[in-house]
Amino acid sequence: MVAVGRAEGCARWDWGERGADRRTAAVLDLAHAVAALQPSATRGDQLLRALRANRARWPLDEVILPAALALAPAGSAALRPFAEALRADVAAHLRARVALPLEPPADAARSTDGLRCTCEDCRGLRAFLHNRRELAWTLRAAEARRRHVLEVAHAAKVDLTFRTERRGSPYSLVCTKTQASYAARVVQREADQAALAKLERPASPSPRRRK
Ligand SMILES: [Zn+2]
Repeated sequence: MVAVGRAEGCARWDWGERGADRRTAAVLDLAHAVAALQPSATRGDQLLRALRANRARWPLDEVILPAALALAPAGSAALRPFAEALRADVAAHLRARVALPLEPPADAARSTDGLRCTCEDCRGLRAFLHNRRELAWTLRAAEARRRHVLEVAHAAKVDLTFRTERRGSPYSLVCTKTQASYAARVVQREADQAALAKLERPASPSPRRRK
């Protein structure tokens, strides 16, 4: 006898799940459930709307893209409309990002997006980041002030590296500009193009030809 008790009836998914791979697995399970339900096209539209309505929970890059890739060679006809719609959503998102200009910084000026603090040291940091010529800036200050600037800069993910110069008293925090954001965008661009190539590959591969 197969026991189907209350324990087995519990939901498999914890909908509070934070891990992106677990949420991708949930989307795949839902896609297969939709394919099994009638009318599957209507259920698929409902699921797509739900996913689109909450991109914070179902982000295109982290959750939907891996699901779309997994469903790309979707064999079953019932699964195909949903897989196609998911693929189209992700492909449009990737194409929009690939269309953005991708150039290294023209001069030494760097973004200050995310820098919120307006204290004197942070104003100095902001002025340095806006400066088109200066690549390095030294803050000679007590430990608490150096730590504050370091924390603020890390939180804002500014394009800087830091080193503490332990000479004299107080020590100095030396901030040097990098091209980290640009380098990250280059990596993202390559990943986007690779993902697009996979998504745009024909769903059913042509039969293998004999050599
Ligand atoms: Zn500050």
